[in-house]
Amino acid sequence: MSASAIPFDGNAIASVTQCFLGETHRLLIGGEWVEGSGELETRDPATGLVLAKFQTGGAAEIDRAVKAARTAFEGPWGRMTVAERTALLHKLARVMDANATLLTELDVIDNGMPRFIAGLTTANCVEMIDYYSGAVMRIEGTTIAPPRHIAAETEALTYTLREPVGVAGQIVPWNVPLSTAILKLAPALAAGCTVVMKPSEETPLSVLALGRMILESGIPTGVVNIVNGLGAEAGQALAEHPGVDKISFTGSTATGRKIVQAALGNLKKVSLELGGKSPVVVMPDADLSLAIPGVAMATFFLQGQNCMAGTRIFAHAAIHDELMDGVAAFAGGMKLGHGLDFATMQGPLISAAHTAKVMGYIDRAKADGLTVVAGGEQLDRPGNFVQPTIFSGCDNSMPLMREEIFGPVMAVQKIETDDLDAIAALANDTPYGLSGSVWTRDLSTAHRLVKRIRAGHVSINCHGAVGTNIPFGGYGQSGWGREFGQEGLDGYLETKAITARL
Ligand code: NDP
Repeated sequence: MSASAIPFDGNAIASVTQCFLGETHRLLIGGEWVEGSGELETRDPATGLVLAKFQTGGAAEIDRAVKAARTAFEGPWGRMTVAERTALLHKLARVMDANATLLTELDVIDNGMPRFIAGLTTANCVEMIDYYSGAVMRIEGTTIAPPRHIAAETEALTYTLREPVGVAGQIVPWNVPLSTAILKLAPALAAGCTVVMKPSEETPLSVLALGRMILESGIPTGVVNIVNGLGAEAGQALAEHPGVDKISFTGSTATGRKIVQAALGNLKKVSLELGGKSPVVVMPDADLSLAIPGVAMATFFLQGQNCMAGTRIFAHAAIHDELMDGVAAFAGGMKLGHGLDFATMQGPLISAAHTAKVMGYIDRAKADGLTVVAGGEQLDRPGNFVQPTIFSGCDNSMPLMREEIFGPVMAVQKIETDDLDAIAALANDTPYGLSGSVWTRDLSTAHRLVKRIRAGHVSINCHGAVGTNIPFGGYGQSGWGREFGQEGLDGYLETKAITARL
């Protein structure tokens, strides 16, 4: 490295964030901050400097946390009225809103994301808790015609109740730490479940701060437990634990398979939000003033460390060259730097190891003779900075087009055809199916093509347009189940059918 690292690259952090970093970070179990059995440190990926040490747990601490969650489920939380549960979630949203600077800055310095993105995700987290606090009172069953053999004899009533699944284990990745925690936590609490959460060892800080806010908001002890620790130890123990009724996981497809195996013991419910390799199709009549920045950000948003990232670009020959010039200019103009700097558009990758993996893909593509349209280098400075990189001349058989790189790497394939079935066949030639987008001015082309793309979330003239109330999840090996919106809540509810002879 050419220069030595300066804390936060010389950017200021709020005094509340500074104080937080200096505190002791334990495990939240049964409403108390308890000692862990190990300790790790977390680093600022923009500088490589240590931010804080945090305590970790393994199977024993997970077991304590699951028991605390069970006690809370069978105790005060389970007995609470829906009005009380709504009010507590509403209070949590207000406490988080009041602490938005802390939550935002922690995700910036721990994960590396630019401040403008972290600010948005914190605001979305508050919105999501408000959304699910409102949903508590709308949890409803149905009345159904009673079974024929009973109705033949007597008047009867059949109805359903929606009941909480029970204790939920939630395993959170590092790429959008607070957001992924909240999109799991909020529907679980709204449904009446209790939670044991394991954040990623790469980004423990914002979820630890959230733990304090949960206590401050008055949510009863043991309802939310937070156990940091290694995935293979704490994460595995949580996924295996017989006292956990549901496991919700976001992360790699490889780890998702381990979660499924681990869940077999007690056949706990499993929801998985896994990887992606999302197609972006740019048709000849696309509005390039929208498509150029849109396609660039489909790949480069969050440094490409984004499960929805649109990294396989199918550019029609009619607009291919103009699109390439535009996205290359956009990529070249992106300011790389510390996320705390308001001008930063792209921050660092999460770790040196992950950067090596991403650079491995780039170097291999260069060695294979692909054309580098933009970027292609790691910055010679402290931290894990990789230039926004674009390769043209790709085809769907290459690793660049098939594997989830999880970095700022766009692979572009020129297409000559207008046949929507042929284009969809290319887009669907992947084991994944999380997201995708279509860029065209023609309404008929747009809707016919999105219908043909096999993915859980497809956008027209925008990419990754997720929202609190919009279901999100994957086809194929991108996952099981849906998060966000009503379906996110349904994932934490069981349905009980009741029939009464009257
Ligand atoms: P992982 O899937 O391994 O990690 C995600 C979460 O799972 C972390 O909290 C991790 O803990 C935990 N975990 C790891 N192993 C186990 C296990 N055996 N049992 C239970 N939990 C476990 O992702 P990585 O961080 O290793 O990233 C590798 C690749 O995964 C990325 O390059 C990217 O392609 C993909 N990924 C996809 C994400 C998405 O949003 N779909 C998010 C993150 C990564 P810990 O961090 O403590 O090890």
